[in-house]
Amino acid sequence: MAQPRSSRPSAIVEGALRRAILAAADDARVRRFVNAHGARLGGARFVAGETPDTCVAVLRALNERGLHTNTTLLGEGVHDQAQAEAAVVSYESLITRLVGEGLRANVALKLTHLGLELGEELAYENVRRLVEHAEALGSFIRIDMEQSAFVDATLGIYRRLRESGLTGVGCVLQSYLYRSERDLEALLPLAPNLRLVKGAYLEPPDVAYPRKADVDAAYLRLLEASLTGAGYTAVATHDERLIEHAIRFAEQHGIPRDRFEFQLLYGVRPQLQLELVRRGFKVLVATPFGPEWYPYLMRRLAERPANALFLLRNLVRR
Ligand SMILES: Cc1cc2nc3c(=O)[nH]c(=O)nc-3n(C[C@H](O)[C@H](O)[C@H](O)COP(=O)(O)OP(=O)(O)OC[C@H]3O[C@@H](n4cnc5c(N)ncnc54)[C@H](O)[C@@H]3O)c2cc1C
Repeated sequence: MAQPRSSRPSAIVEGALRRAILAAADDARVRRFVNAHGARLGGARFVAGETPDTCVAVLRALNERGLHTNTTLLGEGVHDQAQAEAAVVSYESLITRLVGEGLRANVALKLTHLGLELGEELAYENVRRLVEHAEALGSFIRIDMEQSAFVDATLGIYRRLRESGLTGVGCVLQSYLYRSERDLEALLPLAPNLRLVKGAYLEPPDVAYPRKADVDAAYLRLLEASLTGAGYTAVATHDERLIEHAIRFAEQHGIPRDRFEFQLLYGVRPQLQLELVRRGFKVLVATPFGPEWYPYLMRRLAERPANALFLLRNLVRR
């Protein structure tokens, strides 16, 4: 009998590598090394450069291929109010520019970048300013989901924004968290715009499923509950089994294509992105930029340890 994917030796090794890469990401020496060499060795494949200009050029090229985009000014965990304010100002001008240039692109941001660790009220006020700005220009803001310690505050802020009448905002649920199915149930009456992901952080077994098979099964349950609910679902995964399941499930339940979209990361499965566009689905490519790319790159390496080997091979080849 075939073994479930997550109990195969390769899945066990991958899981261990994933945890090792995420743990090593906090080591100062690893940070120095990757900051010095990572982009040149191939990490740039996941990031649209360091400036708004380089990013806009990439977004335009993606739009020209029929892909929608979102972008993030990379950065998280600011240490004072001035840094949070600087992030808000940068996002304000980025939103204005994306709209002004007629790009099919919106912003996705992290609340810790807007000061969540300094105070929930500060993050709320900052994100509200940006959602109001985006909405006034006919745009939209996605609030990313970060480590489990921030989930309560992030969902609370999302709820406050929606209950204050703002609609140009969405949030994210991570299927690796045991709590996400309850969170989805609580959010559905708001007809939320939800991005569903598996989850990218190192979480302990008392809050998140340790086994990949359980994370995948939970994703399936969230997907079906979200698609049959009143909101809009962004199916954010590169897992083709889940993508095909979403397509079949939507067809079987008469869920129209304007009630969901697929989202993938810049630099990951580009052919699959185009193939889904060719089949008539809305596809959004999440395309971050900025000098603070280190933690983002480390999460991408952990998701697929072969990416880390690719970087190391480039190092040996030089
Ligand atoms: C648009 C988008 C937004 C996201 N936002 C968040 C967020 O707000 N919060 C959060 O915690 N996580 C976020 N994530 C990351 C997510 O949680 C997963 O870590 C990531 O998507 C990998 O899981 P997977 O669903 O692709 O499935 P997996 O089972 O991990 O991967 C399926 C297949 O996809 C390919 N693949 C997956 N990742 C990579 C990669 N990095 N490089 C190359 N190939 C890869 C591999 O072929 C793999 O076999 C986001 C992901 C996407 C696509």
